[in-house]
Amino acid sequence: MYEHILIPTDGSKTAEYAVEQAVDVASKYDATVHALYVIDVDATSYALGAEQVDRIRQGHLDEMPEIRAEADEATGYVADVAAEHGLPVREHVTAGEPARAIRKFVEENDIDLVVMGSHGRSGLSRVILGSVTEKVLRRTRLPVLVVDVHGGDQGAEA
Ligand code: ATP
Ligand code: MN
Repeated sequence: MYEHILIPTDGSKTAEYAVEQAVDVASKYDATVHALYVIDVDATSYALGAEQVDRIRQGHLDEMPEIRAEADEATGYVADVAAEHGLPVREHVTAGEPARAIRKFVEENDIDLVVMGSHGRSGLSRVILGSVTEKVLRRTRLPVLVVDVHGGDQGAEA
């Protein structure tokens, strides 16, 4: 059923929370886990110029050690949990608009399940879903498992 499971992560606690679920499913299906961190080129926190974006796209992320470290930390968390469960795992970093990059990755890598958090770094709990998750749900036809930031706290806000 599932051979390649994608966990897009922005390094947030909520994304990390989704990893446990993803790895559990992956174990049951002997699936390969893919961790993807998208460097959000429009995020003001990065303030990337067009030239830097090009360099990243050309694979020269090592020129930007801070971003590299952030990406490695995010995907490394997924890799560690997957490895603890003896699962094959691959870490990927790309640059772009996160939802678009996730969709592209899905299409190019035979992904058959996406597991992601309901929210991410901005984590506004008053909105039902973060914008990246909402766009992925709208734009892909794959099954997407959305792990809620509130976890087992079911119905607490109902
Ligand atoms: P918003 O970004 O809309 O202000 P948010 O940060 O709370 O809200 P999202 O960004 O939609 O919510 O994050 C939801 C999930 O999407 C995360 O848990 C993660 O799985 C995935 N995600 C978000 N940003 C990225 C990214 N840059 N790279 C990979 N995955 C991401
Ligand atoms: Mn976000």
